[in-house]
Parts: sequence; C-alpha cells; structure tokens
Amino acid sequence: MRKLILSSILLSSLLGTISISVAAADKLVVYSARNEQLIKHVFDAYRNETGTEISFITDKAAPLLVRLKAEGKRTPADVLITVDAGNLWKAEQDGVLQPLDSKILSKNIPASLRDPDNNWFGMSVRARTIVYHPGRVKASSLSTYEALADPKFKGRLCLRTSKKVYNQSLVAMLIARHGEKKTEAIVRGWVANLATKVFSSDTSVMKAIVAGQCDIGIVNTYYYGRLLKKDPGIKLKLFWPNQKTHGVHVNISGAAVTRYSKHKVAAQKFLEWLSGPTAQRLFADSNMEYPANSSVPANRIVQSWGKFKQDDMNLVQAGKLQAKAVMLMDRAGYK
Ligand code: FE
Repeated sequence: MRKLILSSILLSSLLGTISISVAAADKLVVYSARNEQLIKHVFDAYRNETGTEISFITDKAAPLLVRLKAEGKRTPADVLITVDAGNLWKAEQDGVLQPLDSKILSKNIPASLRDPDNNWFGMSVRARTIVYHPGRVKASSLSTYEALADPKFKGRLCLRTSKKVYNQSLVAMLIARHGEKKTEAIVRGWVANLATKVFSSDTSVMKAIVAGQCDIGIVNTYYYGRLLKKDPGIKLKLFWPNQKTHGVHVNISGAAVTRYSKHKVAAQKFLEWLSGPTAQRLFADSNMEYPANSSVPANRIVQSWGKFKQDDMNLVQAGKLQAKAVMLMDRAGYK
C-alpha cells in the first residue's frame, strides 16, 4: 500500500514536471519592430497550427535593442523580429542574438539574405528601386542607381532623408561594390540633382513625383503597392535598375533567436516555420513584400510589377559599412 502511494506520488510529480515543461515550451515571447497589424496574424496562424502561444511587444528597432541589452540574461524575449539587415547586424554586434544550426533555414533562406554565422535570417525581401512619372520620363533614359547622378537629371530627383536606415543600407551596399571614393561621387551627384529638400518618407517622395515637384525617386516597392491600392490609376511606374550589373538593391525584414532565450528549441522551430510556405505567404502578403523563400510566389499584384535580378551580395555588408555610409552621406551634403 505504502509502495503504491509512493509510486503514485512519484508518478504525479513526474507528470507535473512533464506538463510544466510542455507548457513552458508552448509559449514564446517576441520583440517585434514590425507593427502589430503586420505581424499579429502570423502569430495567430502559428498558434492555430501548433498550439504555441506567442506574446509580443512592438516598438522601434532601436529601443527594442536597448531593452534586450539592458535585460541581459533576465530577458523574457525568445525572438527578435525587425526590418533592415543593418538593424539585425547591430543586434548581433550588441551580443543579444544566438546562432542557429538549422538545415531547414539554410535550405529555405538564400545565403545572401541571412547572417553568414546564422545569427539572423531574412524572412521577407523588400526591393529598393527607382520610381518615375511615365509621362515625364522615358524608361529608356533610366539605367542604374549610379546613373541618377548624371547631370541630365538635374532638378528632377526626389529622395528620402539619409537618416533612414533604408538609404544607409543602399549606400553601404554601393560602398561594398565601388569603394568610398566612387560612391561619394555618386551620392554628390544625387544631391546635385535634387529638385527639393529630402523627404521624411518614401510615400512623400512618390506624392511629390505625382504632384510634379520631381520626376524620379528611389523607394521600397511595398510603399508603391500601398499607393496603388488606394489609386490603381496613379501616374507612377517602377523601374528595375542595374539589371546588366549587380541587380536591384534588396533588403530584408528578418528574425533571430535571442541569446538568452529560455525556449531555444521552440524559438528555432518558430523561425523554421516562418521560412516555410504558410508563413512566407502571410509574411510577404501583409506588406506586399517578396517572399525570402524563392519556392513561394509573391502575391499577384507584386508579380505584375515584373521579374528582376536582385543584388545577391550578402546583406551583412549593409551593417558592416553602415557607419561609413552615414559619414559619407554627411560629407556629400545628403541631409
Ligand atoms: Fe518601411
């Protein structure tokens, strides 16, 4: 009898342990620099498919990084989601991420879109390309980012501020291709061609083109997609530059497992799921981006903008050269 009671106590405590560890693995905490409306439905889909609950906070990338660093080992965060390889690179430099050894992620995400040491992984691709007014610009007069420095475009270019990480990454990748001297000449050329002061957003760049303030700009395609949704007849077209050279500059929105995650296995599983077909469709469609996993098609509207060659230089360069890019743009007078 005694033996029976003892073993049943043992059994129930064992069961207790099991149920606790299952419960712990069934919950993940995500810090997300993507806002709730772009990410919550992805978390919901994961919960519906796997039972894993995801709680999350959203904020800008910089404060999330500060928070992760300050929390250190005590952080509740398992996963960091943010846009731009420059931000992910910074998180890795700050020591708040950990590398993953995952065959699934290596297979699903092209090498150029993930950290060479596997600390972070691109989950969707944003193309930063040329946009123009088809009534005032012939597509045949456009060719490359570099050529936008040509004096023939004087007074016709609109740009978003150099303070935005998207432009810092674009210029960093130009430095990686051409070196600082040539890149500075290109950026000086852009500045000399500006029609007006720089803008705070890609959307304002496009609105300025439509309004006739300028003819050409550089923007992320999903902002073009958003405008197109509101006004399908908008007088703006995308141009894919550098098709005979290194391809269109792309960046990512990506994910990483935090260094001090208490649920590493579950967090890795979640990232692997993010790289698969269900999430890739949701992740890309919610913001009209391109799936990072090339076996998943982009949505129909995005596909209608045509195929293009992407720059396949590893995006880690965007991080490594970011500080140089910022100083270069400052020297060149790009505000
Ligand atoms: Fe954006």
